[in-house]
Amino acid sequence: MPLEGLLYTHPAHRPNAPVVRLDHVTVRYNGGGAALEDVSLELAPGERVAIVGPNGAGKSTLLKVIAGLLTPSTGAVDVYGYTAGGHICIGYVPQRTQVDWSFPVTVADVVMMGRVARIGFLRQAGKNDWRLVRESLAQVGMADLAGRQIGELSGGQQQRVFIARALAQEAELLLMDEPLTGLDTPSQEAIFDILDGLRARRMTVLLSTHDLHLAADRFDRLMLLKVRLVGFGAAAAVLTPANLRLAYGAQMTVIATPEGALVLEDTCCEGHED
Ligand code: ADP
Ligand code: MG
Repeated sequence: MPLEGLLYTHPAHRPNAPVVRLDHVTVRYNGGGAALEDVSLELAPGERVAIVGPNGAGKSTLLKVIAGLLTPSTGAVDVYGYTAGGHICIGYVPQRTQVDWSFPVTVADVVMMGRVARIGFLRQAGKNDWRLVRESLAQVGMADLAGRQIGELSGGQQQRVFIARALAQEAELLLMDEPLTGLDTPSQEAIFDILDGLRARRMTVLLSTHDLHLAADRFDRLMLLKVRLVGFGAAAAVLTPANLRLAYGAQMTVIATPEGALVLEDTCCEGHED
């Protein structure tokens, strides 16, 4: 076995396995109440899925169990047919509020971090790695800012750098925790343009958002979460008045219009990022 082979703890993919499979997953923090309860679901290759639900619904927790950062209290999480945990194929972008932006690293350094797992610890970054870093930054329109400190960028630019890191890592599954929160519409559109480009790579994208309209308009499927999985499928099937009341209860006003459309107002989380 070549030396690099010994350094890879990440298993290969089982043929025909779903990208992600959760089987009756329950997560309790410190033995408290369930943050996620009895969630079972599968993701297919190349699909783009939005997780929606009120604050505290378990969106971040769900992303973390798939990323392998948290182990479920009960139930199983598989990624490409193997128990989740350190899969090299997963690019995880944490919520912006959870990142220390004062950490002194350049944009290129952040993207190179995506290469570390591929390179292995005993080797140094080579020409090919730096080429991939440059290409990844170019793909998200950030090549010019490679030398900047990450903390100096706007929120939308920071999200793009993290996508570039996942590209440099050659990730096949991209997990993003509220990447659109706090961004203006042009910055959100820039992210969607990049995600559209990822379809050609068949990259599977799972991201959480507070924005039900964006979730309904721009994603293949929606996951409505309130500790339990309230609904998972096409927007029209998931965002029913009954499901929305179940998920949001008094936090949301649901108004049926003559066209049968709904006006939805999330009144719980204004100006609240976490
Ligand atoms: P969301 O991302 O949908 O707002 P989270 O997954 O962050 O929801 O949180 C789900 C539940 O788990 C909440 O009740 C939250 O308070 C709790 N929780 C999240 N992280 C922790 C933690 N590290 N320790 C204890 N409880 C936590
Ligand atoms: Mg969250």
